[in-house]
Amino acid sequence: MLRVGHRPGRDPRLTTHLALTARALGARRLLLHPPDPELAARLAAVSERWGRGFEVLGIADYRRAIREFDGTRAHLTMYGEPIERVLPRLRKERRILAIVGGAKVPAELYGLADVNLAVGHQPHSEVAALAILLERLRGIPPPGRWPEARASIVPQRRGKRVRTHGGGSR
Ligand code: SAM
Repeated sequence: MLRVGHRPGRDPRLTTHLALTARALGARRLLLHPPDPELAARLAAVSERWGRGFEVLGIADYRRAIREFDGTRAHLTMYGEPIERVLPRLRKERRILAIVGGAKVPAELYGLADVNLAVGHQPHSEVAALAILLERLRGIPPPGRWPEARASIVPQRRGKRVRTHGGGSR
């Protein structure tokens, strides 16, 4: 996925949640414009513990990243086509670049994308929009998605149980 309009130091929590959500719901990487090495390091630490398979790459030129992407560019925007209309086409694609904006969305994104899609036509959040798109595309990834995890959760009716690599739990 691509996040345009990140403000390093100003909204670290929101973009961190976006990255965590992308990772947990099966995205392979986050292209982050502008780059934020601290955020990338935080996500690397999460992947170290909970399993690899996701990376954060800072990019200086988002137009180039969109142009050079070898697949379908899907821009999430409340002004776009309804997600239900677009999903059948997206489900056939092998590679998708989901693009989300921030507080201000550059108008050119609408033209750079192959498809502009809306998750409802009300304003909400890039985290919610991305989560719904990923879930509708592939569903929630199974636990086996993170085979190199140093820790994994043992689901409980109540309380918390985490199994650490090597068989222990706490
Ligand atoms: N004022 C901004 C604009 O011009 O669209 C609102 C940006 S909103 C806070 C941040 C991002 O959330 C948007 O760029 C879009 O990617 C996503 N988003 C918000 N509502 C959405 C919706 N209904 N459908 C799809 N994406 C949405």
